[in-house]
Amino acid sequence: MADFQENGLPKIPEVFNNDYPENYKLRPQTFALTREELKETLEDGTPKLLTMDINICEDGYVEAVNRGLDRRDKQELNKRAEELYDCDIGCEHCFDCKTKTNNPLMKTEEVFAMLLEAKKLGLKMVKFLGPGELLHNPRLFEILDFLKDNDIRIGIFTKGLICGKTWYSQEKFGMETKEFCKKLYSYPNVSLLFNITSTDKKTELKRINSKKNPDLFEIRNKGFENLANVWFNKDISNQRLTLVCNPVLNDNISEVEEIYERAIKRNIPIIVAPTMVSGKWLDQKEVKDENFKTEKLVNLYAKIYVMLIRNRLTTLEKIKKDWVSPYAGIPCNQFLGGFMQRKDGKLQACPGNETGPYVYTEDLRRSWPLLEQWKNSLNYILRQKALEKWDDMPLTNPCYAKQELLDFPDDKTPIQKGCGSIPDNFEHRVLKKINEFLMG
Ligand code: SF4
Ligand code: SF4
Repeated sequence: MADFQENGLPKIPEVFNNDYPENYKLRPQTFALTREELKETLEDGTPKLLTMDINICEDGYVEAVNRGLDRRDKQELNKRAEELYDCDIGCEHCFDCKTKTNNPLMKTEEVFAMLLEAKKLGLKMVKFLGPGELLHNPRLFEILDFLKDNDIRIGIFTKGLICGKTWYSQEKFGMETKEFCKKLYSYPNVSLLFNITSTDKKTELKRINSKKNPDLFEIRNKGFENLANVWFNKDISNQRLTLVCNPVLNDNISEVEEIYERAIKRNIPIIVAPTMVSGKWLDQKEVKDENFKTEKLVNLYAKIYVMLIRNRLTTLEKIKKDWVSPYAGIPCNQFLGGFMQRKDGKLQACPGNETGPYVYTEDLRRSWPLLEQWKNSLNYILRQKALEKWDDMPLTNPCYAKQELLDFPDDKTPIQKGCGSIPDNFEHRVLKKINEFLMG
């Protein structure tokens, strides 16, 4: 049996050998919603709030930042939020932990209260985005119990350190990594969204240049292997281990198609996306690089779709019906399904963009009820429009946060040419290229 990769990627045996079962789907447990779910409404006909991206901070950090301050002490809150954050990984270009806070940080109990409110509106799943690693939070298992008891699935973005280094799992939870991975697997509502963007150590460490863990590249591979060894990639109808290949930039784009194919042969779906236009990634030169966006990115997505067609994992008709996904083969309907809560209570459309039209309230704790926030959100308006327009709506939304020149309901186009990491008319460009590849 071939391993995942001879060099650079974790060593995991294949599940499929170019021969996928009939009706096999790339459908990570906690990523996309089904068409049927997107049509669900509350008793009064309100489309349900089905999914949220969430932030949860460790208690010690929250207490240290908030102690003795109220929301008017913005400068001091910001200073403390930055200085006191101590992620166990310590990447140089951290996305979430060093961002501004405009309010006291949300306590875990406040996040729980928000989730219970969201549950009444239909919440089915959340994705944990930060700050730092939820898997290192001393209250991890209490948080997972809370979600399980409330029938909420969670996808956890991670760099996998604790799954690959026994010292960490011993230190944090008093168990060996394998035992820790097994315990995670015992939660049927938990899936992992594991970040790997390159088989090349130097390229990967440009993104996760961990001052504290110079051997992070090797540890994360080991962690990924440990998760596969406890069967996280076993169930072919409910995929609980997903590889996140994000961001795709000039330095890794040539590897992505191969990583994609290797992953899916192991029953590991893969999310591919260009850089966000938020946080520190905003400055990536690829956002301004027309050739990268309209040629290289379009080609990559088209090649991935052609590979999926050739493996009988999709058809051209299905792609036209579902639409080309900003995640290349795995739908994104996060934008239509729900919104995102930040560590300081800010509510925004999704993680991909945090500029004006995408921010709904600076502090949801002062803007109850959540139902009103949901009904006034761009996400809700777009979902309603989609439901009115189509009997059978497309499964994926376009990337409302990053794609240039998309029309919004108020006839504004918030992302101008040169400001998004996905070019205008992306779906048509990719479809055209898919046709060219299939003909040629
Ligand atoms: S792992 Fe995440 S939170 Fe920690 S330093 Fe890296 S980007 Fe920041
Ligand atoms: S709309 Fe774009 S940025 Fe937002 S979740 Fe979907 S793919 Fe990501």
